[in-house]
Amino acid sequence: MKKDIHPSYQTVKAVCSTCSTEFTFGSTVSKVSVDVCSGCHSFFTGDRSKARATGRIERFNRMASFAKNAKK
Ligand SMILES: [Zn+2]
Repeated sequence: MKKDIHPSYQTVKAVCSTCSTEFTFGSTVSKVSVDVCSGCHSFFTGDRSKARATGRIERFNRMASFAKNAKK
């Protein structure tokens, strides 16, 4: 390896801002932050409570009916 051209590789700690899980890994950057990780993302946890069961058209029609009733 040539000297003075490679970034320093060190152990970095990253903390998930959603579930506060800490990860330790090697990186050339000194600071890492993540918004979501495999411990809290719904794809990995299987939690689909936030996913919509109905389609967008059904949702639009429901909101349109609310607006129509509100005008009366
Ligand atoms: Zn997380």
